[in-house]
Amino acid sequence: MSKITIKTKEDIEKLRIGGRRLARVVDAVGARIQPGMSALELDTFAEEMIRSFGDTPSFLGYAQTKKDPGYPGTLCISVNDGVVHGAPSADIIFKEGDIVKIDCGLIHEGLFVDHARTFAVGDIDPADRELMRVTEEALRVGIEQARAGNTTGDIGYAIESYVKNRYGNVRTLAGHGVGYAVHEPPFVPNYGKKGKGEPLVPGMVIAIEPMLTRGTDDVMIADDGYTYITTDGSHAAHFEHTLLITENGPAEIFTVLEDE
Ligand code: MG
Ligand code: MG
Repeated sequence: MSKITIKTKEDIEKLRIGGRRLARVVDAVGARIQPGMSALELDTFAEEMIRSFGDTPSFLGYAQTKKDPGYPGTLCISVNDGVVHGAPSADIIFKEGDIVKIDCGLIHEGLFVDHARTFAVGDIDPADRELMRVTEEALRVGIEQARAGNTTGDIGYAIESYVKNRYGNVRTLAGHGVGYAVHEPPFVPNYGKKGKGEPLVPGMVIAIEPMLTRGTDDVMIADDGYTYITTDGSHAAHFEHTLLITENGPAEIFTVLEDE
């Protein structure tokens, strides 16, 4: 998909339902994580939960090129220095002190939503706890700017200004348009200039997803061929919501639990 799309009223209602379901999935996945469990077990649980709704995991089989065999999981599971895009496997066993990034997408009646949270396994380093808190707050700060009349640059500028030099801010990966596909334009970077980038228009649906680290801004692909890890081994956190640019006022966040 090469153009920015505006979602219809009917599509927005489907995104609302899909978003709430996805929030339930990620919440339930997070509640299950415990030492000794494998990433594959968690992935199977998430896939079954999504299918029990009659929906479809959107990452599973996702291919970016024709040669790409397709992504092997329902979840992206990235542990500690893993930032995003970690593929689930039976070899990844969670242990006390890990921080685990769970990223998931689903398709509800043809509409795509995307959501990520970072979870602690038991007692974690207080510095990791603080990293998680600041990353979630960076997402909130970005969402605050996601208003008609603003630009993607306003979102990035707000996130970057909030983070300052306290943490590494991964710049080579970004948020994105979503709704009719896993990824749509525009890019929604976690840095930027006020008033620059793409104008935000009512009916646009975007995913905002800051990725912060306790060290470098830089990431590389790990030996597994999937996970983006920090180049200095520092721990990373990631939070993401799918949201709608509304006519007036704040964005409507789709990926929240019913009673939030
Ligand atoms: Mg995601
Ligand atoms: Mg995303």
